[in-house]
Amino acid sequence: MFATLSDRLTSTFKNLRTKGRLSEADIDATVREIRRALLDADVAVQVVRAFTSTVRERALSAEVSGALNPAQQVVKIVNEELVAILGGDNRPLTFAKAPPTVILLAGLQGAGKTTLAGKLALHLRGQGHTPLLVAADLQRPNAVTQLKVVGERAGVPVFAPHPGTAGHEGAGVPGDPVAVARDGLATARSRQHDVVIVDTAGRLGVDAELMQQASDIRDAVDPDEILFVIDAMIGQDAVATAQAFADGVGFTGVVLSKLDGDARGGAALSVASVTGRPILFASTGEKLTDFEVFHPDRMASRILDMGDVLTLIEQAEKAFDADQAEAMAAKLVSGDGFTLEDFLVQMQQLRKMGSMKKMLGMLPGMGQMREALDDFDEREVDRIEAIVRSMTPAERRAPKIINGSRRARIARGSGTTATDVNQLLDRFAGAQKMMAQMAKGGGMPGMAGMPG
Ligand code: GDP
Repeated sequence: MFATLSDRLTSTFKNLRTKGRLSEADIDATVREIRRALLDADVAVQVVRAFTSTVRERALSAEVSGALNPAQQVVKIVNEELVAILGGDNRPLTFAKAPPTVILLAGLQGAGKTTLAGKLALHLRGQGHTPLLVAADLQRPNAVTQLKVVGERAGVPVFAPHPGTAGHEGAGVPGDPVAVARDGLATARSRQHDVVIVDTAGRLGVDAELMQQASDIRDAVDPDEILFVIDAMIGQDAVATAQAFADGVGFTGVVLSKLDGDARGGAALSVASVTGRPILFASTGEKLTDFEVFHPDRMASRILDMGDVLTLIEQAEKAFDADQAEAMAAKLVSGDGFTLEDFLVQMQQLRKMGSMKKMLGMLPGMGQMREALDDFDEREVDRIEAIVRSMTPAERRAPKIINGSRRARIARGSGTTATDVNQLLDRFAGAQKMMAQMAKGGGMPGMAGMPG
């Protein structure tokens, strides 16, 4: 799911990488590409419109950050807005103050309700609950049997019409799903189950009778949660279907099923924001364990195909100490110059980023940075640190005074060689020259060797 959308968004951001500053035209072009990518992924038009206008506005007035280049800022904004349309924070299940908690499942036929009933039961059992499944889908042939199979696999009992009675498969008489639901709830109470999950019938399309039945069951069992299960593969119909259920039955939360499919997934992105109801769970396969608590932030970074890159952006912001950079800038301007101590601090900052080397390449604008880091040996920082620590304060301030005997002493003290000391001094001289040029040009000193 989302593969195409991910590719499109990622390449949009790639185009921004080379830009040092984004003009309004750049932002408009980017927003246009994002809009097209979302529409092609079947995201509902109204959602796309709201999303892109927020992204545009925020990108135009983006706060200046020392650590993020403009492209990264756009990624950050898109990510945050994706999280927002997916519902913001994860919303956990609401449990009744006085058990049993009643959870009603609603949705079209084939949406994945029965499968989800088993998954949810297993999930809750794992948390120490004692769920009872209630088979109130008496419409679809085999639905009751299917729920029994699922319940058995999950190790959770199933309440179903008795064989031979109305509503039981093969009895030839349609049963009353409302009565089954009511009896199921009574049974849960008497057997002290703390959660009741009621599976209801769906139809292939939305119809009035179906809505009425689901509403009648709802009124009979007074659920704490009504979860609307929606097949994430159904595309543009998702919004209309969700709206119909919201109007017809009402629901408190959404479950996205078949997120493992390779459809375009617009449903997933539209449904929370169109209905104003949070997505609680995701179903990701046919096995009972293919089930996840839904986290909008994780889903957004999956869509942006960024793995933990967003975490990396945060870390980069932290690693790049703005106060330190400012202090250094002030120092350079005042003519105090860039010292070996400063050089060491920069190297240490580079090391902080070095441990994230692999991810850096995925960051827009960080390609060059990764190249620099490819040549960067972590042990090098230890060596530099040892060498600088072995110098006297006077030597650190004015490396020019380091003659042959001082060099030999520093090498001995740091467990390195005179050549190592020389190499460090050369590199430092290069960095110093660069910093001096930056100070003259009025630019912010970044980390040596680190493109801004
Ligand atoms: P219901 O009519 O709403 O009860 O839907 P079912 O639970 O019977 O599911 C319909 C079909 O979708 C079944 O073949 C399920 O195995 C399949 N299914 C349900 N959830 C998922 C899922 O998350 N991923 C995949 N790939 N298939 C699913």
